[in-house]
Amino acid sequence: MRLTGGRVFDPQKGFVLRDLCLEGETIVSHSGGETVDLSGCYIIPGLTDLHFHGCMGADFSDGDPAGLQTMADYELSRGVTQFCPAGMTLDVPQLEKICRTAADHKKNSTSGSDLVGVNLEGPFLSQAKKGAQNGAWIRDPDPELLLRLKELSGGLVKLVSLAPEAPGAIDFIRKVKGEVTVSVAHTACNYDQALAAFSAGARQATHLFNAMNPFAHREPGPVGAAADSDCRVELICDGIHIHPAVIRAVFKLFGPDRVIIISDSLRACGMPDGQYELGGQDIFVKGPLATLADGTIAGSITDLMGGMVRAVGFGIDLHKAVTAAAVNPAKALGIYDRYGSLDVGKIANVVVLDPDLSLRSVIFHGKAL
Ligand SMILES: [Zn+2]
Repeated sequence: MRLTGGRVFDPQKGFVLRDLCLEGETIVSHSGGETVDLSGCYIIPGLTDLHFHGCMGADFSDGDPAGLQTMADYELSRGVTQFCPAGMTLDVPQLEKICRTAADHKKNSTSGSDLVGVNLEGPFLSQAKKGAQNGAWIRDPDPELLLRLKELSGGLVKLVSLAPEAPGAIDFIRKVKGEVTVSVAHTACNYDQALAAFSAGARQATHLFNAMNPFAHREPGPVGAAADSDCRVELICDGIHIHPAVIRAVFKLFGPDRVIIISDSLRACGMPDGQYELGGQDIFVKGPLATLADGTIAGSITDLMGGMVRAVGFGIDLHKAVTAAAVNPAKALGIYDRYGSLDVGKIANVVVLDPDLSLRSVIFHGKAL
């Protein structure tokens, strides 16, 4: 298949007017066969969501195989061709269950977005900054538990969230950093504590600004420490969690190669307003806002494609936004050799956007959906 006339995403050069050729499941340099005219369209790599709890009534934390399939199908329909679902803070049997469910899905599922990892957002968090996490199941960092969960997941656990001030957190980072990427999250830590975590090997910060101390001029907190390290930072771009001015500031401060746009979406994503459940707690959804009963903002109800397009609406250049939603998360998960760009040899997961950035079509493993 030859896609012609479109503006093709190139990680270094921006958008380039050229043909994109696909053969079987792979991006190639030349191809015969069908030609598709995409004049005026943007052609971008399929996105990767590495912090995504649920959608369409399903939540990864349920440990329900049918629900995980629903999530995979929804993500693919929205151009998120790779996904790494995130578990909440749960009790150990349920953490084991979600890891087994992911392993089984990887083995048995034949449709939907590619499952490329599991993100454990908890249980090694801070009570003081638990946000919408269930405090009853928060526990001290436990490397043996994490490695057991990784094994149960068939190696899919790629990310774990951690509060650097928790007892044993720095030792935990040193022990697991070769196995799983540690992300600073849900933390009451100060600048020095966060910097110690990054120096010990933490490589990411979870939903920057949310559930952590602010970036203040005499107390720079974990945001200042992240800026002084070389970690990547997750950013929710639904326009609810982070003010657009701060989204613009984060892209300037960290540069487009270190920002990862995430959805952090809940089971209510793709659903009408109403009452839903998140990690054993009720949440209330009205318009683009999801809250606990006490008004605490819970996760988002905007999917990754929606968040990426909103970021552009907030003034982020499209090339930078695609870099943050496709290239950087694939690099963070260690899958950039196969996913995350339109380079020759990669899996042909391709998204076509109309000039107004509405989703026109998705090509998955070389086949148009
Ligand atoms: Zn969170």
